[in-house]
Amino acid sequence: MGEETEREQLQEQNQQPEVHDQLLTTLKKYWGFTSFMLLQKETIRSIMDRKDSVTMLPTGGGKSLCFQLPALLMEGMAVVISPLISLMKDQVDSLVDMDIKAACLNSSMRMTERRDVINRLKAGEIKLLYISPERLRMESTISLLQSVKLSFFVIDEAHCISHWGHDFRADYRHLYIIKEAFDSVGVHGFTATATEEVQRDIIVQLRLDTPDTHIGPVDRPNLVYRTGLRVDLIKQIQTILERHRGEPGIIYCLRRKDVDKVSEQLNDLGFKNVPYHAGLSDNDRHRNQDRFLTEEVDIVVATIAFGMGIDRSNVRFVLHAAMPKTIEHYQQETGRAGRDGLLSNCYLLYGGGDYHTHNSFVHESPNRDAMMDKIGYMFNFCTRPQCRHRVLVSYFGQEYEAASCGACDFCLGEVDMVEDPLVVGQKILSCVYRVNHGESYGFGAGYITSVLKGSNIDRIKNNGHQSLSTFGLMSSETITYIRFMIEQLVGQRFLQRHPEHQTLFLTETGGDLLKGEAVPALAKPLVAKKKKEIARKRREIREEEWAGVDRGLFSLLRDKRRELARAKGVPPFIIFGDRSLKDMALLKPLNKEEFTDVFGVGERKLEQYSEPFIEVIKTYLEGGETETTSELP
Ligand code: ADP
Ligand code: ZN
Repeated sequence: MGEETEREQLQEQNQQPEVHDQLLTTLKKYWGFTSFMLLQKETIRSIMDRKDSVTMLPTGGGKSLCFQLPALLMEGMAVVISPLISLMKDQVDSLVDMDIKAACLNSSMRMTERRDVINRLKAGEIKLLYISPERLRMESTISLLQSVKLSFFVIDEAHCISHWGHDFRADYRHLYIIKEAFDSVGVHGFTATATEEVQRDIIVQLRLDTPDTHIGPVDRPNLVYRTGLRVDLIKQIQTILERHRGEPGIIYCLRRKDVDKVSEQLNDLGFKNVPYHAGLSDNDRHRNQDRFLTEEVDIVVATIAFGMGIDRSNVRFVLHAAMPKTIEHYQQETGRAGRDGLLSNCYLLYGGGDYHTHNSFVHESPNRDAMMDKIGYMFNFCTRPQCRHRVLVSYFGQEYEAASCGACDFCLGEVDMVEDPLVVGQKILSCVYRVNHGESYGFGAGYITSVLKGSNIDRIKNNGHQSLSTFGLMSSETITYIRFMIEQLVGQRFLQRHPEHQTLFLTETGGDLLKGEAVPALAKPLVAKKKKEIARKRREIREEEWAGVDRGLFSLLRDKRRELARAKGVPPFIIFGDRSLKDMALLKPLNKEEFTDVFGVGERKLEQYSEPFIEVIKTYLEGGETETTSELP
């Protein structure tokens, strides 16, 4: 948004231009950004007006800045409650790197370090203090905080307070003590989880007083979603990894043993990766996580135990090797891609069995029915060809306005639809009906496929099914085709699988389909020609994304970043995000003045890093290497 229009808007909102200028100056000075992202200004305003507030912004939406900036400008110290030591550490490291006085107090610190922080805090030398919810339950912490001037409290990852979402944390339930012990200090909850239940819970549990609420869109426009049937997992993963050579990514598997197997196979194939799951020793887990965060390794194969606290901002793809449990989980797990706002990819490979695996996990759960509904919804997401962004957004109760997202397999035209889905559906359902009707056990998808294909196998003959009218009804289609149609019909709830025997039955909507009163949406399996066309389009999108950016230089800048980070003992993303490096490889600044124009360069970054990076650029240009044709990084 241009300066002028922003000013006009401010006048409309009765906001003083001086305050606005001060915000913008601080934004540029420390962060090196020139404008605010959606809802940042509004949230900052609630904080500076000393109200309570709840803010929901998606991952990558810029939540931290919303409280870090006012903490810098307001008198006193802000207290940030954060659920994980690693998250606190990353935030503090990155603030300190910008010359902002931040610190944390946690159990991983030595006594002397803690004492030092307490002394600085008492001397009024800290603007942001990060602590865990457990620590706030300690009497001594409360009295310590009561002894200094506080600007406000922030509850980060505030959805941890609610049973309704995920990542529930019992210690978050005690945070109401903030309002009891510090009644005149504003309290601000931040989360990326949108459901209304969770929002209400946050307000009630924190005892917020008529809070301002800032609810952003849940959509992540920079993520491209794709789903596909799992046929030959390792081969499918390999194809995807080849497309993303040199790029960081996470591969999620359902079980620990799948993680071990996939990780090993990929390492054998030359895709260097580390495994991560709760079955590994603490030591191994930490080491593997570190290797990923410090960019020593770019691929991690993990169960969902890997995730929270992963702040690496340049994760370019998240690949699910099996269906996630619910849409909430999917949103959370894919959310780890593209925190830096750059284009990132989410691949989901599902299998018919995944639905039952999840159902068997929740079998004993007290809210089993609700969970099964959620799992069913997830399966439907996998199997129904439609705009993925739209489905995700509407799941969280928001409207998706654009007709096409331009960022999912469906909208990118990667899905070929079956022309006569009703007829195909009817053929399959009537076959299931004829084969399984009245049977106490019945037959599964493999058998039904063989009957439809008209296979000459003994089992069919022994059952006398070759005389059915549906025998060979789809003989001109491939086995893969028929099988894929069946999975989609199950996912869209026209067919149902028996939980134990895996046999197929018609549902009530299946009956409607037979009568022609309901129509499925069916995609065809991809054929070679289509695959080639898709690959070409994807290359075009990538070329466009990297237009003007010198890739050879980008790669050298990345090396420099890693080297500086190692010397400092911080993860590389603390120094600069990929967006800044890309900008350097585009603008090729050769002096300090030019370097200020790079995205994310504030005063302190300029002082610390302009020289080493300019040096890399100069050497590169002197080497006479102009635009390289090297592979995309
Ligand atoms: P969240 O916590 O909501 O996931 P972050 O606070 O990590 O998001 O911010 C996401 C990214 O956006 C970070 O790289 C951050 O530096 C960047 N960012 C935040 N505010 C702005 C802004 N006003 N302009 C440009 N980039 C921003
Ligand atoms: Zn779409």
